[in-house]
Amino acid sequence: MSLTIQSVSTELLRVPLQQRTITDSQSTVTDVEFLQVTLRTNEGVTGYGMNWSYTTGLRAAQVMIDENYVPVLLGQDAILRKELVRKMFFSNHFVGRVGAARVGIAAVEFAMWDLACKAVGLPLWKYLGACRTDIKAYSTDGGWLSWSEDDLVRDAVRLIERGFDAVKIKLGRPDPREDYQRIAAVRRAVGPKIRIMTDVNCAWSLATARYWGAKLADHDVYWLEEPMPPEDVLSHAELQRAIPIPVAVGETLFTKQSFRDYIVSGGVGIVQADATKLLGIDEWLEVAALASAYNLPVIPHTNVQQKLHVQLAAATPAALMVENCYESLNEMWEEPIYVKNGWYTLPQEPGVGLRIRPAVIQAHRIG
Ligand SMILES: [Mg+2]
Repeated sequence: MSLTIQSVSTELLRVPLQQRTITDSQSTVTDVEFLQVTLRTNEGVTGYGMNWSYTTGLRAAQVMIDENYVPVLLGQDAILRKELVRKMFFSNHFVGRVGAARVGIAAVEFAMWDLACKAVGLPLWKYLGACRTDIKAYSTDGGWLSWSEDDLVRDAVRLIERGFDAVKIKLGRPDPREDYQRIAAVRRAVGPKIRIMTDVNCAWSLATARYWGAKLADHDVYWLEEPMPPEDVLSHAELQRAIPIPVAVGETLFTKQSFRDYIVSGGVGIVQADATKLLGIDEWLEVAALASAYNLPVIPHTNVQQKLHVQLAAATPAALMVENCYESLNEMWEEPIYVKNGWYTLPQEPGVGLRIRPAVIQAHRIG
């Protein structure tokens, strides 16, 4: 059996978040953009992939797919995925070796994995070979920087009542003393057993991260995420040597070599690889293997791509849990997954599971 690609189509949509406007230290998020890629084959099997961005920017990835990658893909066997990814990458590497170029390739790569899984009738995690049948979730849905301290505490308590035992809180207010007080308030409200993660979204200097990162240990913070710009590996390594809390990075690292540099230099304690930023699932698995060789936990970054990362985590012994965020968008997927009592249950449908419902595409399509 071959999976010859007969057509490639892309659809760009912008979906509003049905909740209060949210902010972290860098972004105000009112909408999420999605780029759906559809691969049709001569065997009648159809593969779906997607990628995402906040509010705007994916049109660049769509143009790269339509102009550069479609000629690479048409008439080719999707099982030769790794070779096709290499060809797509070099088709426009003078324009973008990272960023939109990779985001577009990843969307196509997921669709090729979807075809492979459907051809054998297995969900991704079973196709890969699994080490678990469910996985713990932690929630980011209540910890936004724009929340008042009262709202922050109320949301943390609400999430714990629903069964979560781990919540993430955004940091990066103009005065870090405020961040510290907000974490102290959440810790007082939730008690000692709940895990509290923190996320700075790259806003701090090394001096700020050293001082306040160390102070966060007063409240038993489980990790400090993206304290500084991701390009600055050396500062992260210096920070990780100086503070007792694990430093978490990965959501803005686009290459396995970036992860290698972080891991070898000691700049990362929690590996948050995200297949939507890498060249797809194959490169994610390489990063996960590298992390495992260094005895580092892998806790994938997700916001809308939980279905994908829950399955990758199920096939990765070093994965401890998976992020949960933007639950208001769950219903846009053809086959959504949900968290119950703080745990994800793995999907049973064949494929990767990134198909957006046609009615949602129709309602929100912008390109
Ligand atoms: Mg983050």
